[in-house]
Amino acid sequence: MKENLFDIKDKVVVMTGACGVLGGTIVKYFASQGAKVVLLDLERASSIGEALVKEIAAEGGEAMFLATNVLDKQVLEENYHEVMARFGKVDVLLNAAGGNMASATVPPDKTIFDLDVDAVKRVTELNLFGTIIPTMVFARAMAESCRGSIINFASESALRPLTRVAGYGVAKAAVANWTKYLCAELAIKFGEGIRVNAIAPGFLLTNQNRALLTNEDGSLTDRSHTILAHTPFGRFLEPDELVGTLHYLASDASKAVTGTVCVVDGGFDAFSI
Ligand code: NAD
Repeated sequence: MKENLFDIKDKVVVMTGACGVLGGTIVKYFASQGAKVVLLDLERASSIGEALVKEIAAEGGEAMFLATNVLDKQVLEENYHEVMARFGKVDVLLNAAGGNMASATVPPDKTIFDLDVDAVKRVTELNLFGTIIPTMVFARAMAESCRGSIINFASESALRPLTRVAGYGVAKAAVANWTKYLCAELAIKFGEGIRVNAIAPGFLLTNQNRALLTNEDGSLTDRSHTILAHTPFGRFLEPDELVGTLHYLASDASKAVTGTVCVVDGGFDAFSI
């Protein structure tokens, strides 16, 4: 029988930001494929994390939740030792902790001269350093085994700057750049078994951006109509439409793929007129 390149059974998948809008769908999917999943998120998300762990166990899967802070190397080191004590390896690291911050945007009634620089620093710290620091901790296991797949969460705004979204776009563009830098750095020093890629999701209608994309009566805002007019699919994406790409990047099916930023966006990035 031919080898199944997509087999991820028993792989240890560590995900930061695992209790967020996308995280729940993603960790349940990986667990359903036989991966052992480690959910890392802030202490305040622990009830969501524990509920996800129970849900996964009820389906016969294996998962653990650990409270963390992706900006605190000391806490991440403690997480790392717990993961290694339980599973003995890290095969996949999903750096998903991140997100936009309203204070780091420039709304229509303001200009660049009103930009809150501290907020731009905060959103950059979370999205960029919240990707770099967990990698410095968890990729150690990959360096020892010379195997692993790191998948960073970029965004459409990393590739196509979006009006209003000043800080987040800059931060995600830096995540995309770091992804390419790191792919070379790790392959040169530790061999081709360690790969680094990013996913750049397009527009999803989630609780996080509902206020920006829908009016109080549920109808779409002008910004939504503009987005959809620029999306060949003509619709928003669903969280479960990301999992196939993540599975591919996590598995040996993509074993020669490193340093890519995979857009999953219904064609938004490619579309002009
Ligand atoms: P989300 O806000 O729902 O979840 C993010 C999670 O990160 C939360 O559970 C939060 O508690 C956690 N987190 C925040 N700060 C943290 C810290 N310091 N340490 C550890 N955990 C922390 O976001 P999401 O929609 O699930 O998005 C996940 C990733 O995908 C983010 O990086 C986001 O920027 C990116 N993304 C999302 C979308 C979208 O439409 N949802 C689109 C493109 C990219």
